[in-house]
Amino acid sequence: MEREKAIVKVSVVGIGVNAVLVAFKLAVGFLAGSIAIVLDGVNNLTDALSSVVTIVGTRLAGKAPDKKHPYGYGKIEYISSVTVAVIILLAGLTAFRESLEKTLHPTAANYSAVSLIVIAAAVAAKLALGRYVRSAGKTWHSESLIASGTDAVMDAIISLSTLIAAGISMAFDLSVEGVLGLVISVFILKAGIEILSSSMGQLIGERVDSALAGELKDFIGKYPSVLGAYDLSLHQYGPERLIGSVHIELPDDMTAREIHGLTRQIAEDVYCAFGIVLTVGVYASNTADGAFADMKRTLTDILREYPEVLQMHGFYVDAEKKLVYFDLIIDFKAENKAEIESDIIRRMQERFGEYEFAAVLDSDVSD
Ligand SMILES: [Zn+2]
Repeated sequence: MEREKAIVKVSVVGIGVNAVLVAFKLAVGFLAGSIAIVLDGVNNLTDALSSVVTIVGTRLAGKAPDKKHPYGYGKIEYISSVTVAVIILLAGLTAFRESLEKTLHPTAANYSAVSLIVIAAAVAAKLALGRYVRSAGKTWHSESLIASGTDAVMDAIISLSTLIAAGISMAFDLSVEGVLGLVISVFILKAGIEILSSSMGQLIGERVDSALAGELKDFIGKYPSVLGAYDLSLHQYGPERLIGSVHIELPDDMTAREIHGLTRQIAEDVYCAFGIVLTVGVYASNTADGAFADMKRTLTDILREYPEVLQMHGFYVDAEKKLVYFDLIIDFKAENKAEIESDIIRRMQERFGEYEFAAVLDSDVSD
């Protein structure tokens, strides 16, 4: 709720500042007959529109989960970021077309001192706004605020270049507005594409942030009797809802009662510390060693010959069933994953004929 209010407040400030800028720039642009300044104003109009989209997106995303959407509405924020990106792309395309026209058929603009002062003030206002919105976006993990903050900084640069173009035009009687407009449009388009790919990436589903994965595994690894944490998998349903699972290795002489207490405790502590809903799965680890240590060493030695194998975990020998379990994480880039797996199993079987080997191929979902 606090986050939602903060984002809405920042967006309202953005709308207010942009509305004032649009009014001034359109007036100055039309009076001076400068298409660059008019375009600049239109560009600010898209920003105000983006802020409206951000507010609506945040409000909708904050809706409580219900029966039909049990994971909440958080992903709507990514969709509003995509919408903002599309608005920026459209503005970029329009700017490009207008500038091309202006390059081919240049017309002289007529700037007054007042109009130059207005533009200079607009540059300063936009820079300040951009920094303010961006830092709020980082504080509240809002992809759309960061996007509109970045956009505002880009716009300040655009306004600055219209100022420079006016200067050049006044000093040398030379119209560079068109060429400048083309360069500006490319920057606008680039910003749009970057925001689009970032928010689309989050909609598609991305790898768990490496630092977070490390922190979580360290956190879980500190519990007594936890021998290792593996297969951390997280799904993001908006910036504030993370759901996932992890596997931990425990000594095979622990009782269900002990495991129950431990896994419940881990899930609860992880939720309190990280706000993540985590399901904890269990691998057994042999407490009675001896021969098995030798088998594990042999497996480790064999794996050394396969650089594609990134990790092996969950090694467990069921002595009664003569069954050996282990999980392999093979690089996504490796094309012959199944071949590598069966190769390794075959080599283990040759060495330890009386055992069967049950390997599982895990996906390389986190660092
Ligand atoms: Zn595994």
